[in-house]
Amino acid sequence: MLKSSGVKIVATLGPSITNEEKIEELINAGVSMFRVNSSHSTPDEHKNSIDLVRKVAKKLEKNTAILLDLQGPKIRVGNISAPIELIENSEIQLQHSSEEINGIIPVDYSGIANDVKKDDKIYLDDGKLELRVLETDGKIVKALVIRGGLLKPRKGLNLPGRTASLSAITKKDIEYIKLALEWKVDYLALSFVRTGEDVLKAKHCMEMYGGYIPIIAKIEKPEALDNIDDIIKLSDGVMVARGDLGIEISPEKVPAVQKKLISESNVKNKIVIVATQMLETMIEQPIPTRAETSDVANAIIDGADAIMLSGETAVGKYPVEAVKMMSSISENLEQNGIVRHNYYSRKMAEFDNHEAFAMCQAMITMLDNLKIKAILAFTTNGYTPALLSKAKPSVPIYALAKSETVCRQMNLCRDIIPINYNWQQEISNKSLKEINKLLIKKLGMKSGDKVIMTGVIPYVVGQTTNFIKLLTIES
Ligand code: PEP
Repeated sequence: MLKSSGVKIVATLGPSITNEEKIEELINAGVSMFRVNSSHSTPDEHKNSIDLVRKVAKKLEKNTAILLDLQGPKIRVGNISAPIELIENSEIQLQHSSEEINGIIPVDYSGIANDVKKDDKIYLDDGKLELRVLETDGKIVKALVIRGGLLKPRKGLNLPGRTASLSAITKKDIEYIKLALEWKVDYLALSFVRTGEDVLKAKHCMEMYGGYIPIIAKIEKPEALDNIDDIIKLSDGVMVARGDLGIEISPEKVPAVQKKLISESNVKNKIVIVATQMLETMIEQPIPTRAETSDVANAIIDGADAIMLSGETAVGKYPVEAVKMMSSISENLEQNGIVRHNYYSRKMAEFDNHEAFAMCQAMITMLDNLKIKAILAFTTNGYTPALLSKAKPSVPIYALAKSETVCRQMNLCRDIIPINYNWQQEISNKSLKEINKLLIKKLGMKSGDKVIMTGVIPYVVGQTTNFIKLLTIES
């Protein structure tokens, strides 16, 4: 029988994952999707990694997905000849420039001196250094060092709430969108999204090149939280990007935002990924802290579809151990009955597709009343399985799709086990016999086992879930 999938694990590719053996180990340890980070490496290197993942996934007969993460409008310090020691309570200057001129710190964002206001905070190097704006003349920003330290070239710079004139999709992003379509990646992540309009810009860009890739909006700016309803509505999923989010809104506010984003995404039938520093100490150590294992567990309990590893797998010393740790935490929660199953949150009843929702709710109720082994969802684009997955069913959802791409995309949804299968769009004695055979041969079911079949039969474009059938396996 295929293993029940539970929460999905996303691993970021990087120098720690360079060969087929490592990719195979990671997939076997529980990775459902690999993230390619366009902020690092070259397009050729990314393409090589993607090809390797696809080769291994094919060999293992897995639907391993690929997410391409666009760098987005990340602001960076320019080239400084040597690291600069920023001393607490001293005054410094910044301006838009690629090089350091007369000791003024260069910044690669042309809007910096216009966007900031007196008393704004500026963060450098992942928030390690902090400045407070004293004044700006539209060209040069004078700031006071609040938290000092050594500033190295090309470090990141965050201006919480003050990036109105930044373009959401950079030239580099457009190049990568073109490549993502060419490479047929399964998801596209947008960094530093602030509004629904930013998501639409990415969609228009894909439209221009004649394709579409589902969008994961990375939530890492306070402006995104102000526009979250629009962003969730227009995206296919969100990522709680806790790294930059923690800089922009401060770390103590991240847990509440994370819980709200998980809950809202579940209610709106959208994918939600929790990311960054989940097992951070495993970059250097083989064992995580207890706080880290609890953090992973709580993201699962709260209802995340997927949990993501960044540095742990990209540059860490223990990538496979980190994935195994996440898998074990998830299995342990299941064994202890901690995860709440067969439950749609009340607000889900307000979900706009009432017919599909009522059908799924009926199936979820059946799970509580009958001995069911699995749900078998026949799907064209993954809609019904995704909606079922939001109730965290107590049995696996086997999602049968003809499209390999749809199978890989469903592999990110919690509790879904995609199967690439050329199903007949009819319920007949012949098709039921075929299903019976598949259930016994591939999924290890036995005579007398019961499964729920669902989907859209006959298939009509635009139709959602329109049938439920109870099937008892015959030998
Ligand atoms: C984050 O900031 O948490 C994140 C996931 O983005 P990146 O890894 O690209 O910085």
